[in-house]
Amino acid sequence: MDPNAKLPETQEGTVLFNLDPIILKHHWEVDYLHSYAQDSPFFAGLSEKKLLGSKCTACSCVYATPRAHCMECGSPTEWHELPPEGRIHTFTTCFFGGEAFLAETPFTLILVEFEGADTLFLSRLAGVPEEEIRIGLPVRARFLRNSKFKPTDVYFVAMDGAQND
Ligand SMILES: [Zn+2]
Repeated sequence: MDPNAKLPETQEGTVLFNLDPIILKHHWEVDYLHSYAQDSPFFAGLSEKKLLGSKCTACSCVYATPRAHCMECGSPTEWHELPPEGRIHTFTTCFFGGEAFLAETPFTLILVEFEGADTLFLSRLAGVPEEEIRIGLPVRARFLRNSKFKPTDVYFVAMDGAQND
């Protein structure tokens, strides 16, 4: 036994941004193979500038998101194209976000309601001054020109003239 045993240490330091709470820089790099599996058509739809929700094959519940089975009756669903326009159901402005969103902070998240859909779609709102954001504001989907096959490929903007109505 060696009561004076020491684990090896390095000379590297830590980049510290804040003490309370501690926020530090940590490099992390990994290649990760991820399957969208049954949700793949939703992401393919984003690359074609389409929003695909799902519709129950038995009870006709319409979901504004990918969903393999109906929440109401458990039956399988089929894909259902949502309209490109909707209205803000509710919203929140985020003053802090994950790494991917830090450059856009503060940004506004909205829940969009679509005509004929029974659930809401979470997305970002762009181009609307904070004081003009309101429940019921008509919005339309915009898509990144170069799809990344991620949920952030779509965001919403006010419909033309909608900010003043
Ligand atoms: Zn159903």
